[in-house]
Amino acid sequence: MADEKKTKTIKSIKVDVDKCNGCRACEVICSSFHSAPKYSSNNPARSRIRVIHEPLKDIYVPIYAGEYTASECTGRDKYVIEGKEYDECAFCRASCPSRDLFKEPDSGLPLTCDMCEGEEEPLCAKWCLADALIYEEREEEIEEDEKEKREEMEIGLEALVKEHGLDKIIDAVARMAEKG
Ligand code: SF4
Ligand code: SF4
Repeated sequence: MADEKKTKTIKSIKVDVDKCNGCRACEVICSSFHSAPKYSSNNPARSRIRVIHEPLKDIYVPIYAGEYTASECTGRDKYVIEGKEYDECAFCRASCPSRDLFKEPDSGLPLTCDMCEGEEEPLCAKWCLADALIYEEREEEIEEDEKEKREEMEIGLEALVKEHGLDKIIDAVARMAEKG
């Protein structure tokens, strides 16, 4: 039988580098939201978004903290934007052993953007007055997991067995099978 279609909300933030003016409001609100207790302090080193800026190259690029990687990658990329070359790793989202970016300053634990869990919309996008960070939501169809459905059915059967006893359930299933 074909899997049933379900929809899932995909959240994303579109970064328009050309609009970023380097104000760093995104870093301030992110680190403040993630301080303990919430909003008690702000330290951009605790932010899940960092604005990469190289003064001589005159560019600001907001980068979101992605997944942690346990090892340095073997191949590194170089970026050339409008004829200016940027450092290897400059725009990488990973928290990795090679650099200090995206690590909790007190514990050294990796930081990952959690889309401001619990908030209606990501705070960095809300605070970016230059509209460089645009929050977007879209619905995507997903296949309902067969294993999930089997597990649901088993839970239902277990409840029936508990209530009526296994023999009665087997009899009922046998009768249904005879009816076709
Ligand atoms: S708040 Fe917006 S304009 Fe300011 S640094 Fe962050 S992304 Fe750039
Ligand atoms: S979405 Fe929230 S957690 Fe992620 S970088 Fe923006 S403010 Fe930080």
